[in-house]
Amino acid sequence: MTFWLVQELVCRMLRPYSDNIFLRNLLSSNLETIFPMRLLFITDLDNTLVGDDAATIALNERLLADRSQLCITYSTGRSFASARRLIENRQLLEPDYLITGVGTQIHHQETLDPEWADLLSEGWNRETIATLAAAFPALQPQPDTEQNPWKLSFLLEVATPELVLAALERQFAAANLAAQIVFSSGCDVDILPTGANKGNATAYLRQHLGVSSDLTLVCGDSGNDASLFQQPGRGIIVSNAQPELLDWYHSHGQSHHHLADSPYAWGILAGLKHFGLL
Ligand SMILES: [Mg+2]
Repeated sequence: MTFWLVQELVCRMLRPYSDNIFLRNLLSSNLETIFPMRLLFITDLDNTLVGDDAATIALNERLLADRSQLCITYSTGRSFASARRLIENRQLLEPDYLITGVGTQIHHQETLDPEWADLLSEGWNRETIATLAAAFPALQPQPDTEQNPWKLSFLLEVATPELVLAALERQFAAANLAAQIVFSSGCDVDILPTGANKGNATAYLRQHLGVSSDLTLVCGDSGNDASLFQQPGRGIIVSNAQPELLDWYHSHGQSHHHLADSPYAWGILAGLKHFGLL
């Protein structure tokens, strides 16, 4: 009998009484021990959790059945406002945490995590970066909604983007600026603090919550999800994943990574089953 099965049986026996005020007073702070978080569930949104509405609904139903034991976190390249709109429009489950802007912001409900913000702010000089980038006319700023204090986003639509990016990197190096330049989709340029990515934000959250890596599951479909899979813990790659993530999986994937044979949230459901988490 596995540990989780025993834990599940104990939880099921006690759950009908979990709202009893006398029992709550008696157990006090030990409630967390008796009704523990079973899984830190972290998923990308676009083309992973979202993309096939029937699949999203089926997964939501499954997650709702164990909602009290899950810490649901969405991790996305979208801005906080854009992610909130998607959650509302697609009727996604209300997450416990929201990681947005490719790991540059972590929100618990509406509140920005100040410790993560402080960590990213170390050595980050947004104003100087903005001034240097403004000298490159090929870099067209994306709308204000895509910018945040730890993320500058541009469109770069030229025949030889690598030359522009190399020149920008030289400028940063000459000014001794700590920043990473992320080029994706053939035209999007994000300039971020060096430690900002989905994987590092996940590691921070895991430590912040005191959750072990074997109780952590990440799900994704594209290149900016690769850092999620570079952290310890289980991972699900949906079958509709982009070539760059499939390449990463084929060269770096390990037994705690699962390449699902079905797309979108169907792949997440299949992965949960594969890992015995359902
Ligand atoms: Mg995605």
